[in-house]
Amino acid sequence: MSTFGNAQVQLKKAADKLGISKQTLGALLEPEHIEKVFCKVEMDDGETKTFEGYRVRHNTNRGPGKGGIRFHPQVDLDEVKALANWMTWKCAVMDVPFGGAKGGVVVDPKKLSKEELKRLSQTFMKLIAPVVGPEKDIPAPDVGTNAEVMEWMLDAYNSAVGGQHPGVITGKPLIRGGSVGRDDATARGGFYLLQKVAQDLEFPKHLTLAIQGFGNAGQFMAKLAADAGYRVVAVSDSSGGVSNPNGLDVAKLLAHKMSTGRVAGFQGQTISNEEILELPVDVLVPAALENQITKNNARKIKAKVVLELANGPTTPEADDILFQKGVIVLPDILANAGGVTVSYFEWFQNQNGQKWTLDQVHEKLLEKMLQAAQKVFETAHKVNTDFRTAALMVALRRVMSAQKVA
Ligand code: GLU
Repeated sequence: MSTFGNAQVQLKKAADKLGISKQTLGALLEPEHIEKVFCKVEMDDGETKTFEGYRVRHNTNRGPGKGGIRFHPQVDLDEVKALANWMTWKCAVMDVPFGGAKGGVVVDPKKLSKEELKRLSQTFMKLIAPVVGPEKDIPAPDVGTNAEVMEWMLDAYNSAVGGQHPGVITGKPLIRGGSVGRDDATARGGFYLLQKVAQDLEFPKHLTLAIQGFGNAGQFMAKLAADAGYRVVAVSDSSGGVSNPNGLDVAKLLAHKMSTGRVAGFQGQTISNEEILELPVDVLVPAALENQITKNNARKIKAKVVLELANGPTTPEADDILFQKGVIVLPDILANAGGVTVSYFEWFQNQNGQKWTLDQVHEKLLEKMLQAAQKVFETAHKVNTDFRTAALMVALRRVMSAQKVA
């Protein structure tokens, strides 16, 4: 099944519980706008290569489109449509005044030189400039992109339309109008949520975690968890994984990843990306890509809690199995929403000429996460459903009540 198909199944389940008609749901599922572009980029050897890219705006009932830009070889329209869809529900659950959007370019950024990456980033932004803007659609980082790429794209947008528009993109470097606290925001939001759940469920103080994916979200999650005294017993990335039942030395692991670009090679037992999902830990953190927990391995999941820092890591069939097994799934549209929430803080500061302190950002993020969690947990208990369906119900209600008449 396709990733967009999975997003559809999830939404249908929530819509059924709310008694939403098929017609209304159909209209809500499909995007408002799809922009497909071909980026012609000069490589360092003088050859010109073409990279396919997309910007999908899913829904703007609650505000401008918002969502990251992914650089990854597996990007396709089906995936970007699903990711844009999830952004709409994520922003609505968090009650930030944005709709949903997403972008992607089919490329392996690790195979490009820095100059090639810069040319690709700027070409892509130049091509999508007519459909984005501070009050239209606001990109941000995602898998394979970072603050430097955002800075290049900001320059490309400004030169395409003229003037200075820091609010067109978030996740920028601080000197270009970025916000303090945006770098670790995705992990931190998930970490705040985990702290709440760990307290409610009376988890041991030194609870254990396994993290699949060691990009921005996975790395900061490991750091926050280790700083809190949790035991990170396994970590993996596309190079493979390492585990140590007594807990990995996270500071050393981060230094190893920084110097070699990979997890593999770090001391500990070797573990695959599949095996890591089945470890007997308190908390499993999928922080990589979609469709990792499926009907084939869901029965083998031993974690008590799955904290989704990735988007779409669990398929609908796996969701049903985990719910029956009593595994608590903290869904992506809540668990990884810290990123877009601090993106909203960044955009707000840009639009209003403000600069917040790190304490202010953390305080407001915590407040937002707890408010959203409370609403989702209450809804789940009221209608006796899983947290993903409950989160989608909260989001659907908000998006529909903001629906435009025409
Ligand atoms: N790419 C992130 C996400 O999937 C952040 C989006 C944003 O900050 O706009 O939520």
